[in-house]
Amino acid sequence: MDQNLLSGLSDMGLGKLEGLDIYDSSDQDGKNSKNGSADKEPVVKEEDFLFDKTYGCPVCDREFKIKAVRTGRVRAMEPDMDLRPRHEHIDTLKYDMIACPYCGYAGYGKGFQYLTPSQRKAIKENICGSYKPKKEESQLPYYTYDEALERHKLALVNAIVKRGKASEKAYICLKTGWLFRGMREALLPDEPDYDNKKLEYEQTENQFLRNAYDGFIHARESESFPIAGMDQMTLDFLLTNLAIRFEEYDTASRLVASLLSSKTTPARIKDKTRDLKMMILEKLREQKANE
Ligand SMILES: [Zn+2]
Repeated sequence: MDQNLLSGLSDMGLGKLEGLDIYDSSDQDGKNSKNGSADKEPVVKEEDFLFDKTYGCPVCDREFKIKAVRTGRVRAMEPDMDLRPRHEHIDTLKYDMIACPYCGYAGYGKGFQYLTPSQRKAIKENICGSYKPKKEESQLPYYTYDEALERHKLALVNAIVKRGKASEKAYICLKTGWLFRGMREALLPDEPDYDNKKLEYEQTENQFLRNAYDGFIHARESESFPIAGMDQMTLDFLLTNLAIRFEEYDTASRLVASLLSSKTTPARIKDKTRDLKMMILEKLREQKANE
């Protein structure tokens, strides 16, 4: 299953790495308005919310620019039930990964700058040696979903090669799953092959979220909080959603009980957790009826 999640790396010279497992045995320790604007220029453009940010690559030491979101300018909308963030006029998830266009090293957040000497060596040997930089940089003032996916897959394969924590890989899988949801939402019903694409995006989203779920369940037992920037309450709420998605109702019920009994869970999250509890009971009733 993981094999096709990393497909497309061969275009970057990293075909050898397409078959890597995300979690090897040692781990045991907004919709984008672009598509809808073919004949009419939108008043608000995605690039209005972006700026060029400069990074120094900790692997090849070169400087490069990426497009980043002006966080003060975007307006947040109600997130999806599983906490996927949504913003007006822009899918900010496309801009989460930092990728060096010269050597193929990629990661996210503050962790991008920090590599141990052995991680740096592993990335040089397994990524940089075969990475093929793009011949032409895109001239578009924003990232397409395809470009965003490329950057996410590059970040994932880097995390695997450098033997990153389960939570780091799970986080990239979560974000990639959410990207596929964004792609599906941006599909227009009159697009050629609409039904097939919709199904394919849905299935790929599920595969990435399944990997995120497994990785976070493992991280919850083996890492200390915050995990991927989340406190226990936030992670448990996310995991409850994922557990329901994958019909792991025992785990979902346990997480719900812990969220509802904790004094530190805010009222808003408790309300949403009660909704999830109803959902679980409903699903269990359905399951019984079908037996
Ligand atoms: Zn680099």
